[in-house]
Amino acid sequence: MRESAVKIERRKTRQVNVGGVTIGGDAPVRIQSMTTSHTRDVAQTVDQIQQLAEAGCELVRVACPTEEDARALGRIKSRITIPLIADIHFNHRFALIALDEGVDKLRLNPGNIGKKERTVEIVRKAKERKVPIRIGVNGGSLEEDLMQKFGPTPEALVESAQRHIRILEELDFYDIIVSLKASDVPPMIESYRLASQKFDYPLHLGVTEAGTLQRGSIYNAIGIGALLHQGIGDTIRVSLTAESVEEIKVAKMILEALGLRKGVRVVSCPSCGRAEVDVFKLAGEVEDRAMKLKEPLTISVLGCVVNGPGEAHESDFGITGGKDKGMIYIDGKQHRVVGEKELVDQLFEEIKTRRPEAVPDKETTSSNSAA
Ligand code: SF4
Repeated sequence: MRESAVKIERRKTRQVNVGGVTIGGDAPVRIQSMTTSHTRDVAQTVDQIQQLAEAGCELVRVACPTEEDARALGRIKSRITIPLIADIHFNHRFALIALDEGVDKLRLNPGNIGKKERTVEIVRKAKERKVPIRIGVNGGSLEEDLMQKFGPTPEALVESAQRHIRILEELDFYDIIVSLKASDVPPMIESYRLASQKFDYPLHLGVTEAGTLQRGSIYNAIGIGALLHQGIGDTIRVSLTAESVEEIKVAKMILEALGLRKGVRVVSCPSCGRAEVDVFKLAGEVEDRAMKLKEPLTISVLGCVVNGPGEAHESDFGITGGKDKGMIYIDGKQHRVVGEKELVDQLFEEIKTRRPEAVPDKETTSSNSAA
């Protein structure tokens, strides 16, 4: 597995514990996502959460717009293995129900739930149960006076977050995580940068309403990536108009690209007139199957011998194309020639034989039973 020669120094934040998963301090940058089902549909929500967890999601948030949703949280929690976050927004009663149902974190802005005694009640219960609160400020829903004073600027977002923080601090509550989301990337970056100078609560990074799979991935990679590269950010949510599992794949790739997490890396060439195999198809198939591997590995897919051996030398496994065939490399050395049609299957057979711990249990079992 290749190691990045340059290490990112991360900003030190307070550490918060969300149902056994630490965020901030020296904890790794955590990946989270959100379900798209109605939370009250327990079976579907649990099913989505299990898929997310299998893909690498470390914390999951569910929307609670109705009492029925909030009352479903306990049943969901009892059937999942990762911490559960209730997205409350305004209704203090739903927040109290969520806490009674055993959630691990609340997403709620204390300044938005009305009378102070409501906040006092929530904070007392959250403190008793050691449940952190994420303050989530959004460029699209800033307070009127801040809009008039600053407009929808990074200063307004940070000022708004600080108001909510002060409410919690006055109640002696410090298990706080903060997000400051904007749908445009430069203000999003600047908001988090400013916030990182004002307080040391862990930051939850994200570009809100970033768009569909391709556009959203790019916007998130630039916004989240630029901040992480500056050492800012403790947990990330890649928001996409796509299946939630896609968010996890992109989040993992962002962390891997910056050397903040080890994962499976497929190095592939763009192909050109020298290639005599279908590099797009080969690389696509390898990427799809490699995403399911459980251990960090580097796999190279190169169209011809021009760069193939060089890249393969740096990789754990590799394929280099020839005329209607290809060479499989293992640990940088030529291993065997295989016909183009069988190249990907044979590559993964080699991975299964040499790195069985990297192969998902299902594949190992089905292969064993077939044998
Ligand atoms: S590795 Fe070969 S096929 Fe791929 S881009 Fe380079 S020269 Fe072209």
